[in-house]
Formats: sequence, C-alpha cells, structure tokens
Amino acid sequence: MGVRVRYAPSPTGLQHIGGIRTALFNYFFAKSKGGDFILRIEDTDRERFQEEALQDLYSTLNWLGIDWDEGPDRNGNYGPYVQSQRTELYREYARRLVESGQAYYCYCSSERLDDLREKQKKDKEDFGYDRKCRNLSDAEISRCKQENIKPVIRLKIPLEGETVFTDYLLGEIIKKNSDINPDPVLLKSDGYPTYHLANVIDDHFMNITHILRAQEWIPSGSLHVLLYKAFGWKPPVYCHLPMVMGSDGQKLSKRHGSTAVRDFKAKGYLPEAVLNYVSLIGWSFDDSREFFTKEELEKLFTLEKLNKAPGVFDYKKLEWFNGNYIRQKSDEQLAQILIPYLVRAGFVEENPSPEEHKIIDGLVPLVKERLKVLSDIKDISAFLFREIDEYNIEELIPKKLDASKTVEILENIKSVLDEIFESNEEKTEELFKKLAGKLDVKLGDLIMPLRTAVTGSRISPPITGSLKLLGMEKTAARINRVLDILKNEVVNG
Ligand code: GLU
Ligand code: ZN
Repeated sequence: MGVRVRYAPSPTGLQHIGGIRTALFNYFFAKSKGGDFILRIEDTDRERFQEEALQDLYSTLNWLGIDWDEGPDRNGNYGPYVQSQRTELYREYARRLVESGQAYYCYCSSERLDDLREKQKKDKEDFGYDRKCRNLSDAEISRCKQENIKPVIRLKIPLEGETVFTDYLLGEIIKKNSDINPDPVLLKSDGYPTYHLANVIDDHFMNITHILRAQEWIPSGSLHVLLYKAFGWKPPVYCHLPMVMGSDGQKLSKRHGSTAVRDFKAKGYLPEAVLNYVSLIGWSFDDSREFFTKEELEKLFTLEKLNKAPGVFDYKKLEWFNGNYIRQKSDEQLAQILIPYLVRAGFVEENPSPEEHKIIDGLVPLVKERLKVLSDIKDISAFLFREIDEYNIEELIPKKLDASKTVEILENIKSVLDEIFESNEEKTEELFKKLAGKLDVKLGDLIMPLRTAVTGSRISPPITGSLKLLGMEKTAARINRVLDILKNEVVNG
C-alpha cells in the first residue's frame, strides 16, 4: 500500500505556524511518495469546538494552496472524515475492549473524582484516577446500573512493565507503564470518544501509514501503542517533528508575536513566502538552498532530511523571504495583490477608477524594492492619496543647513518645476545636480527638503517618480506650504 498520511486538527483554535508546519510536512511527504494526504477533523471535544476555527482551517489551507485527497468535502473510501460523524464506530470499538477485558466501565461521579483530586493535591501526589472501578464485582456493577449512572470507559494500562515504540526521527521511546496516566478515559459519559480512542481508531481504519505530528504528542504515543495492542492492530510509523522555537530558544508562542496564520495573511505576507519559510523549520534540503516553490517541495521533501534539533521561527527571516517573493511578482501581479491593501487603507475604491489604476500602476515599480510586507503600502504611498497632516520641521531642514538656506533650496527647485515635469529621470537628476552646484549644497541636502515637502517623510520611494505620480499641481502646492512654514521659522525661529 502507498503512503497515506493525515493532518488531523482539532477545531478549537486558529491555525498557527506549528500547525501548518505539520500540515505541510504531511502534504509534501504524501506528494513526494505519490501517496494520499487526508484531512480529518477531530471535533469530538464539543465544549472546545469553535465554528470559527473550522472556517479558519479551510481558509488557511486554501490560502497556502494545500489540497487534500480525502477529507470532509472530498470523500474517499474511508469517510466520513469528521469525527463527530463517526461516534457509532468509536462506541462499538470501546465496547469491544470492555468485552475482551482490556477496558472497563467506570461509574465514579464527578464529585468523587473532584474529592480524589483535592486529596491528591493536599498530599502533594500527582493526580491520577485510583482505578477504583477496574475490578468492580458483578454485584457492584449491577447496583451502579440500577442507579442509572452513566459510566465512562477506561483503558486498562498494564500495572507493570514498559511500553516501547520506535520513532522514525528519535529512535526508541521507552516509558514505564506505571508512568502512564492511570487508566485514561476512552469514551466519555456523553457517548463521545476522547482524542486517544478516536485518533487511534481512525488512523487504523483510514489505513494511515505514517504519523507526522508535533513532539508534544510523544507522551500520547505510548498510550496509543497500548491501544493498538489492545485492539490487536499494527501501529503506523511514528515520526514526531522537531519543536518550533522562537528566536530566544523558547517554544514558539504568542509571547514572540502573532502565530496565527491569518494574521500573517492580513499583514501582507505572501502564501509562497510563508509556505517556503515554514517548510524550513526543522527540515532542510541541503546546507545552502533556501528557496523552494510548493511544486518543488512536493518532489524534494524527504523524512531523511528532517532535523532532530528544534527549528527556529524567526520573524525577520520570514520578512526577508516575503520581500524576495514580492520582488518576484510582475508589476501587474503586484498591483492586483496590493489593491485590497489600498482599499483597506481607504486610499482607493473597491473597484479602482481608471485614474486610480493609473496611480497604482505608477506606484508599483516605485515601491517594489521597498516592501517587506504588503501592508507597508499604506505608509509608503499615503502621500499620493492624502494631504500631509503635519510637517516635522526637523525633517525639513538638512542637518548642516538652516531654515533660510532651505527656503533658498526650495525656491530654486520651484523655479525649475516645469522643466522637471518635462524631463525624464536622467535629465531630472542632472538638473538637481546642477542646482546643488549652484547653491553649493550636497545633492542629498538638496533633495531632502523636497522629499519631505512632497511626501511628508524623509523616507520615500525614489523622488523623481514620486513627484511625477503626485503631479505638478500638488507638488507645487506642497512646496509652497512648506515655504510658508520655513519663512515663518526664519522670522520667529
Ligand atoms: N487532533 C490532534 C491535534 O489537534 C491530532 C494530533 C495527532 O496528529 O495525533 O493536533
Ligand atoms: Zn470509577
């Protein structure tokens, strides 16, 4: 049988970097082996279920371009792929374990378990079920039945010995049975399975061959292996993925910044960049290559190249990847991608007018080199769509000059504005150089007041292009406004 792997999220929260790393590795592994990638929704925890999380899962996978061969809306031979639709199966198999003597009904009330927990807390013991119902007599069982108590089903963890399984990456994982959670619940009293039962039954019946998942599931691994044994089934190959850390070496979490994928999308990370970078957390093709398209990874991914050591998620590095992918876009593509960000900034209409389109088309080549994330477009292009709120006088006057010299500079530029707007970039540059010579200032000191006057900031896209996009009239008006401010400064300053 070919490779069959699954991504099995619980819809209890938003998709985050660690989650999609698991999804991607499963997906790439399946593709590289010509196998199947299955999406399974593990939604049996009804209290923590969130509809929003489910929508977020679909939109995130969609955004990344990760498609599944079998899953909720793509029924294969092993469906349904949503656990809440498979509860009969779990009940049936839990019952079978009771019948074969490997699991038992537990009738303990929640009050009793609370008391037990309190007592264990007081005695500073680890919390664990005390196995009271593991050996109930028939009489006790029938009394509980008469009282109509709804039982749970618990797995009998062997009291002695150890459980061993081999992890593809980490080797043998050995755990003493006495260290395993004493007799975990498999079926809850509401008839829903716990994660362990449903996960194992589904992996078995869906013919899953390899389990690639986060290392936090290793402790569950031992328990799952015991469950496979209890059913008489053969476990799949386990491969627990290297941890995802923040730059400080701690497990990646909200402390480091946002980890929800949809936040990266909103900020203007491209799916190609996220997919590429996340695929390098704990995996590498060789020592040097960094850029991979999704299609390349579908061919090149191998488990052999997984790292044992934890991987680091570095926000700066992702930004760098993103800039690279932005620059790989054609100007037309980038214009299309940027429009929603300009709309959100309130700069253009949902369907930009021809005039707005002209500005956008002119803007793209000016900013392409500068964008790290797409939402940068808001600050970088505001001067084209908004009047400047306020000028910072310090940003107008070059360091070694004063207000009156700056007035002279701007007056001179103003006097050649017609010429500037008739010239191409090269000629404008010459013009500026000539002016700088005449005024005996550095070219940079000539441009700085102009740049700030026109864009409101010392940092802007290339000045000539910016001027031309803004247009002669607005340029002149802004220079005049700044001249007033500066003259006022000369008089009062
Ligand atoms: N539903 C589990 C989760 O949310 C699946 C873990 C596993 O892959 O076994 O991550
Ligand atoms: Zn009990």
